[in-house]
Amino acid sequence: MHEMGIANSVIEAVRTEAARYPGSSPRKVGLRIGELAAVDPESLRFCFEALTKETDLESLELEIEIRPRRHRCRDCHTDFNVKDYDFTCPQCGKLNSECISGDELEMAYLEVEEHEPSPA
Ligand SMILES: [Zn+2]
Repeated sequence: MHEMGIANSVIEAVRTEAARYPGSSPRKVGLRIGELAAVDPESLRFCFEALTKETDLESLELEIEIRPRRHRCRDCHTDFNVKDYDFTCPQCGKLNSECISGDELEMAYLEVEEHEPSPA
């Protein structure tokens, strides 16, 4: 199950990132997953929970944002989301486009919580 490997990398990335904020703990991590990345969000969530359970990251929330496949028309340079494998340009109606995104798999953000907020 390759979601397990991904969950592992996410947790490592969170730990690396969190190390830059001493005295704080990671609260929520956002992932951006393109629909072409062939990742099953539910499996990923399951693996993530299994790996963080009974660790210091147990309370860490995971938020997954699915990014649609995007194409760019080579004729009129319009960017559009591809649905149901329809690659026709909505602007000029031509079928001459290239894939520009939709296979990303990245950490979008990490929210940390300070244990003892400094007095304002
Ligand atoms: Zn076009």
